[in-house]
Amino acid sequence: MDRYAKQRMRMVDAQIRSRGIKDICLLKLMEKIPRHLFVEEAMMDQAYNDNPLPIGERQTISQPYIVALMTEALALTGKEKVLEIGTGSGYQTAILAELADRVCSIERIASLAGMARKTLDYLNAFNVAIRVGDGTYGWKEEAPFDAILVTAGAPKVPPILVEQLGVGGRLVIPVGSRSTQTLLKVTRLSENIEDVKKEDLGGCRFVDLIGEHGWEN
Ligand code: SAH
Repeated sequence: MDRYAKQRMRMVDAQIRSRGIKDICLLKLMEKIPRHLFVEEAMMDQAYNDNPLPIGERQTISQPYIVALMTEALALTGKEKVLEIGTGSGYQTAILAELADRVCSIERIASLAGMARKTLDYLNAFNVAIRVGDGTYGWKEEAPFDAILVTAGAPKVPPILVEQLGVGGRLVIPVGSRSTQTLLKVTRLSENIEDVKKEDLGGCRFVDLIGEHGWEN
């Protein structure tokens, strides 16, 4: 137990469970993972609030509910190899690390990747590999993935990411304009990368996915 344990329980009740997230493992995990360790010390008291928070470099740690919504959509069972694009604070990464077998995470800003690595090491998340670079190319050497999660807003679904999904794999990605996006779940149905099922998970607002298959810097 830490001094934020009560706030964390309240966060899960008021923001996550009440909005319809049902995955018991995920709810338990969000009651456990110390989200305050993923923000600057001056922000710790706000870490369990119902909104994103700045993490430096003009980036944000996502709102807890959005993290839960995206994670539930990936339908993880513990056996998966997951690619995450946009490590940021590493909070979402820590959740994936507990719910999947292995996580490969890419962050374009080296200082954020470094801080996330430290926090994840402190929490013994040793099944996470972090790479600094443009995640819109995916991580070819590690493909195929059972699930891919993009935590920054893209202009369109990069086909290269669908290519790196195994058949049956799920890609969750916010797609739209630079100001608002729709959270999309794309399921790969066969070897043909055109053969996908697309589901709309609702409106959202993320920072830009910047790179070759994203927005210009
Ligand atoms: N899940 C993170 C979200 C961080 S915000 C969290 O909750 O902390 C999105 C992150 O995506 C930012 O850190 C940003 O630098 C990163 N990003 C944007 N474009 C990227 C790209 N092409 N490749 C890798 N990371 C990218």
